[in-house]
Amino acid sequence: MTATAAKETRAFQTEVKQLLDLMIHSLYSNKEIFLRELISNASDAADKLRFEATKDDALNEGDSDLHVYIEVDKDARTITIRDNGIGMSRDEVIDNIGTIARSGTKEFFGQLTGDQEQDAHLIGQFGVGFYSSFLVADKVSLTTRRAGMTKEHGVHWESAGDGEYELETVDKETRGTEIVLHLREEADEFLDDWRLKSIVHKYADHIPFPIRMLGVATPAAEGEEEKPAEIETVNQASALWTRPKSELSDEDYNNFYKHIGHDFEEPLARLHQKLEGKYEYSLLLYLPKHAPFDLWQTEAKHGVKLYVRRVFIMEASEDLLPRYLRFVRGVMDTNDLPLNVSREILQKSPAMDAMKKGATKRVLGLLEDMAKNATSETATGETESDADVVDAEIVGEDKTEKNTDYADFWNEFGNCLKEGIIEDNDNRERLAKLLRFSTTASDDQAVSLSDYIERMQTGQDTIYFITAESLAAAKHSPHLEVFRKKGIEVVLLHDRIDEWLTSHLTEFEGKKLQSIAKGELDLSDIGDNAEEDKKEQEEKAKAAEPAVEKIKESLGDKVKDVRVTDRLTESPACLVSDQFDMSSNMERILKQAGQNVPDMKPILEINPDHELIQRLSKMRSKDKINDYASVLFDQAILAEGALPEDPAGFVRKINALLKQ
Ligand code: ADP
Repeated sequence: MTATAAKETRAFQTEVKQLLDLMIHSLYSNKEIFLRELISNASDAADKLRFEATKDDALNEGDSDLHVYIEVDKDARTITIRDNGIGMSRDEVIDNIGTIARSGTKEFFGQLTGDQEQDAHLIGQFGVGFYSSFLVADKVSLTTRRAGMTKEHGVHWESAGDGEYELETVDKETRGTEIVLHLREEADEFLDDWRLKSIVHKYADHIPFPIRMLGVATPAAEGEEEKPAEIETVNQASALWTRPKSELSDEDYNNFYKHIGHDFEEPLARLHQKLEGKYEYSLLLYLPKHAPFDLWQTEAKHGVKLYVRRVFIMEASEDLLPRYLRFVRGVMDTNDLPLNVSREILQKSPAMDAMKKGATKRVLGLLEDMAKNATSETATGETESDADVVDAEIVGEDKTEKNTDYADFWNEFGNCLKEGIIEDNDNRERLAKLLRFSTTASDDQAVSLSDYIERMQTGQDTIYFITAESLAAAKHSPHLEVFRKKGIEVVLLHDRIDEWLTSHLTEFEGKKLQSIAKGELDLSDIGDNAEEDKKEQEEKAKAAEPAVEKIKESLGDKVKDVRVTDRLTESPACLVSDQFDMSSNMERILKQAGQNVPDMKPILEINPDHELIQRLSKMRSKDKINDYASVLFDQAILAEGALPEDPAGFVRKINALLKQ
């Protein structure tokens, strides 16, 4: 006997215990989902077996009739769910059942509030999978054997969901997994065949494997014998995306989404198309309502599955859709790829490449439609983008369903599209039109760059933006003062990614994008009094020259330069970066991320109209000048959302000045 053959008791990972408790408390009114989750797992296991068996027929073990069987024992009060899919080895059971190895777990627990309704929602997004068995069962046992292993490599797992599980190596003749749920008292309703069948219909009609149950015995008619019950297939068992659209209801589509997206909520929008051209493929893609927990993790799962002739091949990766569209869920199916090829070969295939391009364009088209509907009520039938998909055309009716609320989409996934601007050269222009921002005119994240251009002032040919650590910091930045005065709208950027976004998106529809905290600002051509303003400014600059000199001398090499500004109307001074230097916001982000950044020296710009500057112009005492210059510099740093080099020194100087 090997060491692993022994019966052993193991503790759940702490997070599992926590998840179980939480789930039982927050999903008690949604118990039926256990069946959906377990059937989903069984169907995934069948998918995997079918794929692996295309390369190694021995894995079929002479039984390629893949299915799920559900059995109810009213006396024993158990439900058994049995599949002949891929099964699990002992190590796989330990890794998969009993640990949560998912990325985003920490974030998930961090977001829990203790409010049941809210937590139920979060846990739905996180996904409960196998553990949902404990919603209805107080004891769960799982017996499994991995396909290809001999019968003595079966594994028996059992737990009451109380923090421990038992593991034992057993003999198992057939491959696959059998799960026995010992129902809790209050879960009696699930012992009813009809109830179970209706749940299977609801969630599993579209699953491409038969789900079988024992039918009801036909009662004996007069003079005849009772007909014994036969095994019947409860679900439709055909791949949903291959069925005619006319047969499919919203509910069918939504239930399929819940299965494939492991989501409790309905999707935000969907797209179902069959494309014919050089390559033939079907797309059934969905946009979720909410971002999954791991969306911002580097190892975030993609949610599109590749099928070849109805056979599941692989979970999507960047080969199917670009990384920035990783929130899309769904299926792509094609006849134009061989079944038994390696991932490496797939990756290099021109068909894959064409499908990826086509699918990307379709998703962008769907988003464009949603964005359009968000601003005007005139719904469009066809997406504008159809014309430029050269390799494919839509056959039959285009069943694209959209929810008009683009704002919802933007709030959840907007930053992904920003990644797209950085990564996807080919679609940068289309993506740029889909971006939405807060601006000085509206801080609800709903202004497009086209809206901005429409509202530009006469003489303005630049899109102005500011980057800061938060919306509040951006909104209150002294850099905005002159823009307010002149009524020029400024885009307020406050996501980390915006620094990268603006270094890749330098132009939109012929208009340059310009940071208002960089370089010399010249707004003199904008507005009605352009000429007069210019002259006045020159005079003021001249008058402030003594102040400039004094500050320059006092600050020395802390700054790159000191100059008079026309950016400010209220503040005495602000910091700017040279046009081609890193912005101070970017510098801060990189430093926070622990990166070595060369110290960028800022330029101090001073407001010649400000009383402090005018006073400084007349000052003689070196000490006083030094105090003033240093306070001006430090408060300009503070206004950027950063800390002065010597905060305590700053406070001391301010207090001294206040006393005077
Ligand atoms: P998820 O399905 O979201 O990954 P689960 O907790 O439901 O999470 O399942 C964890 C893992 O256990 C699955 O990813 C799969 O590898 C394995 N598993 C669960 N059920 C089965 C099954 N019936 N057959 C084979 N493997 C299974």
